Amino acid sequence: MNSPEVLIIGGGLAGLTAALDLSKKGKKVLVVEKNKYPNHKVCGEYVSNEVKPYLTQLGVILDGLELPKIDTLHLSTQKGKQISVKLPLGGFGISRYAFDHQLYLLAMENGVGFIFATVENVQYKDDRFLVKLSSKEEVISSVVIGAYGKRSNIDMKLKRDFIQQKSPWLGIKCHYVNNSHPSNVVGLHSFPGGYGGLSLTEKGDVNFCCLVKYENFKKEKDIASFNKNVVYQNPVLKDFLSRATPKFEKHLSIAQISFEKKQAVYNHIVMCGDTAGLIHPLCGNGMAMAIHSAKLAAEQVFRFLEEPDFSRMDMEKSYQKLWTKNFNKRIWIGRQLQQLMLHTKWFNFGMNTAANSKVLLRSLIRNTHGTPILN
Ligand SMILES: Cc1cc2nc3c(=O)[nH]c(=O)nc-3n(C[C@H](O)[C@H](O)[C@H](O)COP(=O)(O)OP(=O)(O)OC[C@H]3O[C@@H](n4cnc5c(N)ncnc54)[C@H](O)[C@@H]3O)c2cc1C
Repeated sequence: MNSPEVLIIGGGLAGLTAALDLSKKGKKVLVVEKNKYPNHKVCGEYVSNEVKPYLTQLGVILDGLELPKIDTLHLSTQKGKQISVKLPLGGFGISRYAFDHQLYLLAMENGVGFIFATVENVQYKDDRFLVKLSSKEEVISSVVIGAYGKRSNIDMKLKRDFIQQKSPWLGIKCHYVNNSHPSNVVGLHSFPGGYGGLSLTEKGDVNFCCLVKYENFKKEKDIASFNKNVVYQNPVLKDFLSRATPKFEKHLSIAQISFEKKQAVYNHIVMCGDTAGLIHPLCGNGMAMAIHSAKLAAEQVFRFLEEPDFSRMDMEKSYQKLWTKNFNKRIWIGRQLQQLMLHTKWFNFGMNTAANSKVLLRSLIRNTHGTPILN
């Protein structure tokens, strides 16, 4: 039977970062991921620069990829009122296809073990975990990090509160060829029932990723008619889409995106990334939070494994505290934005107000982004 010191459920950004960090500290880490790399994911693909110093420390070389450097946010309302502001820290554009794959290759180089299977059950008993996989394998480990994303079968098994509630949000994404999108700009453009983000990826394709209320989407028969009848109501998006060629045969989509409160430690599993809490994508900072929370988790797990006086309870309490200190305010703001988006009139009012005030927009960016993550 496989028995790593740390088992990580899910090899997205949070899981791969925690794996890299702990393996660099000499720990035996196993990641169980249900999908093979590389693969596309529903995501806006704008990454805040706050993660750069830490990624560099982990050995993730991003400068060599000549990634689009993003320093400007361009916002437009449904009626096409536009505003641009400089992003204080800025960021870069990279597809999840390339980003996750890059981290996976580095994790392999650092000796992280991978099993490609779905984790079906996690049981905590006698101070250790028994983890059952779809491949019928079983793994025993003294620490489990949950980094399995927004929602998963594991949440059902653990009966987490948020999974019992339905969420109205749907995410849709596709890459396009369109030579007119400026490489230094991330766009946020609203339309009835949602908004879409535009940003360039490493290959020069433009990622168009939307968050939309399912009830607004289901009135249309497919994505083409959704774009024509709903998204095109924003003249900026109409201009972009009518001149763009899709690169994917089929758009990617995910339903039931929940912004409900979650716990950073549950059933002794140390949760990080979206599994601990998903910030509203309008804040554009979920990936940075996933990476940052993985760093915090890796540090506390390492202490637990190394320091005899640092008990499991110390680890759990300390991580929970750090998570709250670093992310609670941002998540709270994101949740208020979500409430606003649920009510079309208020959302339009909010977008119009933001489109009229650089001061307000800058304050929103400041309050939903962190500072550079350093060791
Ligand atoms: C519409 C939308 C747009 C967004 N845009 C942006 C943006 O522009 N910038 C930004 O910073 N953030 C953005 N985000 C947020 C960002 O995508 C997430 O915060 C980030 O992906 C979190 O990473 P993660 O590692 O926690 O989860 P994920 O990347 O989802 O990784 C979870 C992994 O776990 C695996 N998994 C799940 N269940 C199991 C199981 N049972 N067994 C094994 N493996 C399992 C999955 O296959 C997956 O690989 C956006 C989110 C949405 C919904």
